[in-house]
Order: sequence, then C-alpha cells, then structure tokens
Amino acid sequence: LRRLVVVGASLAGLRAVEAARRAGFTGSITLIGAERSAPYDRPPLSKALLRADAPASVSPFHTEEHLRTELGVDLRCGAPATGLDIDHRRVLVGADRVDYDGLIIATGAAANAWPLGAGVPGVHPLRTAVDALAIRAALDAGKRVAVIGAGFIGSEVASAARARDLPVTVIEAAPQPLTRSVGPSVADVLTGLHRSAGVDLRVGTQVTEVHQNASGVTGLTLGDGNYLPAELVVLGIGARPATGWLRDSGLALHRDGGVLVDATLATRAPGVYAAGDVAHAPLSVFDDEVVRLEHWTSAAEQGAAAARHLLDPDTARPLQTVPYFWSDWHGHRLQFVGVPTADEARVIRPEPEQFLALYRRGDRVVGAFTVNGQREIMRYRRHIVGHAPFEDALAEAGAHDRAA
Ligand code: FAD
Repeated sequence: LRRLVVVGASLAGLRAVEAARRAGFTGSITLIGAERSAPYDRPPLSKALLRADAPASVSPFHTEEHLRTELGVDLRCGAPATGLDIDHRRVLVGADRVDYDGLIIATGAAANAWPLGAGVPGVHPLRTAVDALAIRAALDAGKRVAVIGAGFIGSEVASAARARDLPVTVIEAAPQPLTRSVGPSVADVLTGLHRSAGVDLRVGTQVTEVHQNASGVTGLTLGDGNYLPAELVVLGIGARPATGWLRDSGLALHRDGGVLVDATLATRAPGVYAAGDVAHAPLSVFDDEVVRLEHWTSAAEQGAAAARHLLDPDTARPLQTVPYFWSDWHGHRLQFVGVPTADEARVIRPEPEQFLALYRRGDRVVGAFTVNGQREIMRYRRHIVGHAPFEDALAEAGAHDRAA
C-alpha cells in the first residue's frame, strides 16, 4: 500500500493518520477536510469555549505545519469530497481526483436541520468551531437563550448560559432529558440538575413558531401556546452521518446514511474502512449489535484501529469497544459506560451529586451511569467487557462505598 487517503479531517481522521505513521507507514497520506481549519477537538466547543473567562478561540490539535512536516500529510482543508469511485479507487473532490490504495472514511456527522428556524439569524446548530464562536459571541452579548433539545450539547449550552447568570429555557419533546442515552428511569436526576441550577426546563412540548424582526430571532411559541422571548436559539437536535458524497458510490449504507462496516471497521469495498461518528459497526461485547456511536472515545479508538487494520489486514481483530461518554452539566461530570438498553436500570445511589445506576440485561451487567463518579466508572467497564454477573458490579459498588 503506497497511497493512504483519509476523508474527514477531525478526530477519527487525525487518529488514523497518527496511527498509520506510528505503525511505520512511509507512503503518502492525503487528508481531505471540508472545514477550513486543521483538525480540532469538538467537546470544548460546548464547554470551555462558552465560558466568559476562556479565550474566544479554537486551537487545532496540531498546527498545519506540524501535520505537513512531522506527519508528512498532504492536508487539503476546505475541500469537501464530492464522490467516491470504488472500482477505480478514487475520491472525487470537485473536479479533482485523488487516487488511493487504501481509504478511511471519517466524515463524521453534521447537525440536523431545523426547518422552522432555517436561515433566521440567531438560530444556531452547534457542531463546528464556526457555530461555537457565533454562540459564544451571543452569550458575551448577554442574549436571552432558548435551547431546543435537552441532549448533551443542548444541556451543556444551558449550563454555560447559567454559569453566566443568563436566563435559559430548554425545550425538550421527550418527558425527560437524555432519555435515549441513559434510559427513562434514571433521567429524573438530570431533570433535577437542570432545575436546581435555574434552567427553565419545558419537557413534553415543541416549538410551533419562530418569531423574528430585522435583526434576527426574537422569540418562540411552544405547543402549549406559551411565548418565550429569546435572541439566541441553540439547536441540540442531533446529527446525521455526513455521507451525501457517498450516495452514488455503491458502498453499503445504513438507512440513516451511515457507513456499514464489520467488526474490524472494513467495508465490503476493497481497501475501504470507516471510523468514528460516520460508521455503523457491530459491538462484539454486546452480541454484535450494530450501532453508530457519537462519542469522542470511540471515534479516536476506531480511527486508529481502521488505519492499523488497513495497513495490516492479517492482524485485524474485532474491536472490543465499550461505548463511553462524558458530559459536563452545571459543574457536575456525567459519565456513562456500556449500553442503556437493559431489563433494569437499578439506582444504587440516588443523591444527584454522587449518583450511580447500574444496568442489567438478564443476569449480566451492561452499563453504568455516574454523576461525579470519575474515580469509579471505569471499574464497571471491566465487568461489562468480561460479561460479569450483575451481582459482581453490585459488589464493586458496595466496596467503593465502604472505601469512601
Ligand atoms: P467529526 O468530528 O464529525 O468530523 C468529521 C469531519 O469530516 C468534519 O470536520 C467534517 O467537516 C468533515 N467532512 C464531512 N463531510 C466531508 C466531506 N464530504 N469531505 C471532507 N470532509 C468532510 N463526545 C463525548 O464523548 N463527550 C463529550 O463531552 C462530547 N462533547 C461534544 C460537544 C460538541 C459540541 C460536539 C459537536 C460533539 C461532542 N462529542 C462529545 C462528540 C465527539 O466530538 C464526536 O464523537 C467526534 O468529534 C467524532 O469524530 P469524527 O472524526 O468521527 O467526526
């Protein structure tokens, strides 16, 4: 293999490049990215970057100079791939063609569109540095904030607004925040975190109308008829795989547009792998359930693994991924390891500042959710990977409590 091409210049793509060089690959690497900047980290966009005391700027993981000289990357920023020709092993970038021997698709996800607020100034998704800097400027200007969706990103923006003492309303169609990610029976604690920090949380309702004047959004009408004034509306309504460019490629795609790969991250097309938020992969630890994760840790892990497997397919093994995410709400660290689809989510410690729930499927532990449980969460990962009985995880929790 002489020519490695990576499409998508963010976390998974960068980790692929780094892993290829670490594995001793000396051929050419072309990194094609739609955004104008070199790869940067997304989690701070909804956390540190929105703080009043933090610099209003985004630093890349590496300078372009470092990518070019140290990692030997031909970096093509602001140049979205527009097509893929599997038969001729070629990526199309507008009128340009980039030939590959091996290809890693790492185009991630793009924020879902919200037709009601399309094109209205002051209505922002939060996926890119450009989005985050616009939101930061609106917070600096003291705008009243409405957030659509009480998922991770929406809830982090609400936390940032409250930390500045700005009024913020979160509008969530489901009965509780984050229900899909942690399951309904533990989401109560999250409602409590928002409400005790002064967030006006409206659940079970939706926006029916967006009001605007010449300078932009002025307010929202909700399904229950209430009117909310807001000059900044942040969308936390999820993301979809960025695979429009693969539509005519013949590559097998999931119905949501994500790229289907096997447990080693290989697609069925020769020499083509996918990694990160774009990829639907079987979770070998969970009976090969096929999932598309939108978590930092799995994107990093998959990017590196895709490169290693592509360069040396004989050594490729199914990844032992255990989904993991964190999120920061009102000064509290939320962490989830495993999967929330379970027969039971048992709340072990209900106190919001040191919450613990363990998830049971049959007699096996499949997940753990903590608030401020940085010192214990990864112990449950070990039990989950090892298919341990639920009782073992309960004993672990007991041992932790006794030691505390
Ligand atoms: P992405 O980061 O989505 O990158 C894909 C890249 O591909 C983008 O730069 C995109 O412009 C580019 N691209 C798209 N189409 C094309 C094309 N046709 N040609 C070329 N390039 C293209 N996860 C956590 O676990 N914890 C957190 O606290 C957390 N916080 C987050 C906060 C925010 C605001 C966001 C947006 C995400 C957060 N995440 C968090 C999720 C985490 O950042 C993602 O899982 C991770 O960024 C995925 O990396 P990726 O490289 O797969 O995709």
